[in-house]
Amino acid sequence: MKIDHLETITLRFEYADGFRYAGGQCTARVTSLVLIHTDSGQVGIGAAYSHPGLVHLIVQEQLAPLLIGEDPTDIESLWRRMYRITRWYGRKGVTMSAIGAIDTACWDLRGKSLGKPVWQLLGGEQPTCPAYASALLWKPPAALAEEAAKLIECGFRRVKMRLGYGGEVDRLAVSAVREAIGPKCDVMCDGSMRYSLQDAASLADFLAENNVFWFEEPFEPEDIDSYVALRARVSVPLAAGENEFGLQGFRELIRAGALDIVQPDASRCGGITEAKRVADLAQTTGLRVAPHSWSDAVAITANAHVVASLPHGVTVEVDQTGNPFVEELLVEPLAVRDGQLTLSKAPGLGIELNPTVLQRYRLQDPLHLPDGSYSDMIFGKAFL
Ligand SMILES: [Mg+2]
Repeated sequence: MKIDHLETITLRFEYADGFRYAGGQCTARVTSLVLIHTDSGQVGIGAAYSHPGLVHLIVQEQLAPLLIGEDPTDIESLWRRMYRITRWYGRKGVTMSAIGAIDTACWDLRGKSLGKPVWQLLGGEQPTCPAYASALLWKPPAALAEEAAKLIECGFRRVKMRLGYGGEVDRLAVSAVREAIGPKCDVMCDGSMRYSLQDAASLADFLAENNVFWFEEPFEPEDIDSYVALRARVSVPLAAGENEFGLQGFRELIRAGALDIVQPDASRCGGITEAKRVADLAQTTGLRVAPHSWSDAVAITANAHVVASLPHGVTVEVDQTGNPFVEELLVEPLAVRDGQLTLSKAPGLGIELNPTVLQRYRLQDPLHLPDGSYSDMIFGKAFL
């Protein structure tokens, strides 16, 4: 099997109302898919969650010429080649996300050519992994309680909420969700990087009293010292990693003793290959792995394959904000029952893209996105 060409697809939609969180008002969402077309007719599917225009440029202008004519199942060697050629401007950020989309598509093709699902190729025994609902953005406590109860009704047993309100509002929000889901379900709290060490320590004690499953990203990703200091003072598990890239980046966090749970995202950190390397490193120090996923069903599926293969894989994130890239993109949509996401036993990632949905949301010019806030990216001063 040889690579014939690579196709980058940018998807964008606007919310009717959007949502509010510590980062501001999110009005729209974007994501990037990368398809590897081969001479055998097989197509590999991958996803990158970063700036779509830059993903497109790196994939098409720098990486595609290196890959065309190569065997896509020769994953480790292609990964090294992509990393080496981009190292002097890459290593972190969008370059790793672009490499990761290609890597994930290569895993899909390796599975298809061997007739085996990726979770099995990675050493997994079962096609299931625990999943959690990622939602509960900024709302009054009563609305949060109502939403949390609905997520449990829909089959989730774990929910993640956003904090960063500050002061007493954080506590009221957590209490409302804890009461709504009861003691048997789990709640995770995302700090959205909005805390000082002192405020995080005081909040973390309250979170521990409420049996919160993890406290995510209380600080900016560069502030590793604060993670280390907080971890020494509190009992609630600390999680982070959505803004970290590559094995080297995670090694720094792990060596420092910054975290209890690492959150590599295959669509950001360097693909299934790099997420698995990070997970293997985490295992040697007794840490658990719970990948971040916030963009589309391809990314969630890639991360779920990794989690399903790991003895120390905790759970995978499923966006429940009403995102069509999560709910409609796949012919066979993701389904969570009794807290478990079940992957297909079909070869590769075991997914098929819905062409009507691709067409509906496909953006022709990824280099010039319409102004708006895309949850993690902002285009246009009016949205600052
Ligand atoms: Mg987060």
